[in-house]
Amino acid sequence: MSEKTIPYKIYLEESEMPKAWYNVRADMKNKPAPLLNPATHEPLTAEELSHVFCEELVAQELDNDNAYIDIPEEIRNFYKMYRPSPLVRAYCLEEKLQTPAKIYYKFEGNNTSGSHKLNSAIAQAYYAKKQGLKGVTTETGAGQWGTALSMACSYLDLDCKVYMVKVSYEQKPFRREVMRTYGASVVPSPSDTTEVGRKILAEHPGTGGSLGCAISEAVEVAGRDPSYRYVLGSVLNQVLLHQSVIGLETKIAMDKYGIKPDVIIGCAGGGSNLGGLISPFMGEKLRGEADYQFIAIEPASCPSFTRGTFAYDFCDTGKICPLAKMYTLGSDFMPSPNHAGGLRFHGMSSTLSQLYHDGLMEARSVEQTSVFEAAEQFARVEGILPAPESSHAIRAAIDEALKCKETGEEKTILFGLTGTGYFDMVAYEKFHDGEMSDDIPTDEVIAESIAKLPKI
Ligand SMILES: *Cc1c(COP(=O)(O)O)cnc(C)c1O
Repeated sequence: MSEKTIPYKIYLEESEMPKAWYNVRADMKNKPAPLLNPATHEPLTAEELSHVFCEELVAQELDNDNAYIDIPEEIRNFYKMYRPSPLVRAYCLEEKLQTPAKIYYKFEGNNTSGSHKLNSAIAQAYYAKKQGLKGVTTETGAGQWGTALSMACSYLDLDCKVYMVKVSYEQKPFRREVMRTYGASVVPSPSDTTEVGRKILAEHPGTGGSLGCAISEAVEVAGRDPSYRYVLGSVLNQVLLHQSVIGLETKIAMDKYGIKPDVIIGCAGGGSNLGGLISPFMGEKLRGEADYQFIAIEPASCPSFTRGTFAYDFCDTGKICPLAKMYTLGSDFMPSPNHAGGLRFHGMSSTLSQLYHDGLMEARSVEQTSVFEAAEQFARVEGILPAPESSHAIRAAIDEALKCKETGEEKTILFGLTGTGYFDMVAYEKFHDGEMSDDIPTDEVIAESIAKLPKI
């Protein structure tokens, strides 16, 4: 097919939309390590997990065998409100960079939550509703997950309690109001409403909080009431599964026009958008049908892949959650409060950690001032105001395109543009005023929290 017939934006027909999620674990030779009971260090059984998550999600979490899992019709109907998301050819960015590379991005910011998080929020809320639960609790960092879950819960008439990392709560008051518009209750974390929150406040007075401690609080609150469950917006296998809708749509769209990406780039916080985007392509690589270069981009201030340790660790600061084997900086690690761009979790998806450990994907870390430079450059030529998280991927895509300019290679670069940055203007303001710094943890700081990993 000739260049000219490829549209600027590629959408799918309703009949082309994915009807099943793709589970990359089915094609992995080395499966991700199982979650362990934090007390006994034995793999968690479905029965034990069902106290934390709803039953169908437990089944998805433990399923290493089925490659495809049907997307229930109700969820597909919800997806129709904002999917397919566009796959965009970044012609203007290419022109600006004067690169021979072809750049595509899959834009997930076209819904009110402003991110890809809604893809899993609706699935998790749906299964909770189906099980007859009253509500769910969760944490949110930058706020996109809390917003997405509030939207999903209000659609299905479920109660939603959100523990929001305190620095974000203070930096982004409007996020909180969007969540309340959708009927959620929002508490800054650490708070005095939980045992674990009070303990963290006593140990770290004045802390801006972290995802790890907000998770502990949300889990504690769900544990008090059998008609509630805890839900998580990233990291877990089930979340990567739901997010595979991103990669499936991308693959269908690219196949339709005969486009094959050489490099696939995504920002990595807990790994859900990256895992979702790369899954179908990684499946091909694992089955030996095709090859791609996959690159995870993380902040230099919270570098789980590039400077973390592959080991069992707690998913939360309060150490009450299951243990996951992952690349981690230690559950006590707190990224600098000067770090603006989300992606603050100390660990990484077990599935992606295993793939990275097996050499099937790469990782790089980038500093936030260079991330905001890329964000601004992108906003000016492509129009979209990107989320700081997404801009980590933009940074790397621009860097790859500039490399192509030097070598003359006509690579096809695909990256995930996970969301919009309208609620991140305090961070943009700091950048514009020259007040943004790059805080990179020292080896000593990382070694200190790694020394406290549980001994398994
Ligand atoms: C949550 C979020 C991320 C990072 O989370 P992952 O689970 O690593 O995908 C990236 N971009 C946006 C816009 C987000 O909201």
